[in-house]
Amino acid sequence: MTALPLVFDAPRRGMPPRHLADLTREEARAAVAELGQPAFRADQLARHFYRGVTDPALMTDVPADAREALREALLPGLLTVVRHQTADNGRTRKTLWRLHDGALVESVLMRYPGRATVCISSQAGCGMACPFCATGQQGLTRNLSAAEIIGQAVAAAAAMAAGEIDGGPGRLSNVVFMGMGEPLANYARVRKTLDALLTPAPHGLGLGQRSVTVSTVGLVPAIRRLTEEGRNVTLAVSLHAPDDELRNTLVPINTRWNVGEVIDAADAYARKTGRRYSIEYALIRDVNDQPFRADLLGKLLAGKLAHVNLIPLNPTPGSQWDASPLPAQREFVARLRAAGVATTVRDTRGQDIDGACGQLAAADSVSAPSLASPSAALPVPPVEPPTELGAEGDE
Ligand code: SF4
Repeated sequence: MTALPLVFDAPRRGMPPRHLADLTREEARAAVAELGQPAFRADQLARHFYRGVTDPALMTDVPADAREALREALLPGLLTVVRHQTADNGRTRKTLWRLHDGALVESVLMRYPGRATVCISSQAGCGMACPFCATGQQGLTRNLSAAEIIGQAVAAAAAMAAGEIDGGPGRLSNVVFMGMGEPLANYARVRKTLDALLTPAPHGLGLGQRSVTVSTVGLVPAIRRLTEEGRNVTLAVSLHAPDDELRNTLVPINTRWNVGEVIDAADAYARKTGRRYSIEYALIRDVNDQPFRADLLGKLLAGKLAHVNLIPLNPTPGSQWDASPLPAQREFVARLRAAGVATTVRDTRGQDIDGACGQLAAADSVSAPSLASPSAALPVPPVEPPTELGAEGDE
């Protein structure tokens, strides 16, 4: 396995210009006042931004001679589409974004009957060094700003509203932080993003707490902080191994906070929120898919307010990592269920567009190493029984 160092502190370089979405409502009103405009213009700008409107010509409720200055000061363009790729008959769309400093990140919009989910990135690259993950092999470029994270969700909502995804106009209903990066390593900005996602329109996207999933590989202090702050979103823990011996290599953060500590923190979150947490487990052939590991996982989670999402790995030709064969997957599921643990196997949307975290960005980055390692298949809700559903950041 490739052994990369864990990186908690993101380089400060490259952060984007200030954006309305980085500010609280009061800060935005003050910023607008500094430009000589009435404070309520901040609310008008927010209304436009959260509807996906950035063209000043369309901001007809703002005086024409003020629009450009306000846009420049508070709505700088932060995300540029490099390309879209679609799959699943137009119902999955993966977008590669270029940030102002040239960093590349991606988001994936997936439409299902009755709902639409966007998977967003919270960092450019990732410092958590999971050896089976393409993004992890890139290392950490930098944290995304709140506005860069929020902008991915806003773009998805606008794409749904405009009917850009097959199936006609619709509404973005779910957001999962399972794109590039470890969300809880960029805590403060992810927290701001949660506020924006949950705040009712026009000052946010107005999503329900249950519809937002924060995923983590197990940054225990940050899980505890999230618990204390009472955001009540859905928590997903990327466990990938039930035993410390394997997890120390598969998910290197385990050397800092082990399986027991991570599960304790997730249990505390479940107690506080009353909400089941999700255990994400990428099934990798002959690495973590053995029957004895299913039994270990079953024992670990029996009686807990937890649900297991098994994710068949999205294999890349030539990689040392491969998806578990179907019989092994079935055996794994059967053993978990026999232990009384709710278990589903994820749909694997987008495999034909390299729909796995980091792979598109890697393909376009001149500096990124050539990636042969696959990463987990797209984080989409399970296809089996319905279920609810991975260092502290600075400001
Ligand atoms: S699996 Fe997640 S936490 Fe691990 S390196 Fe990849 S993006 Fe980072």
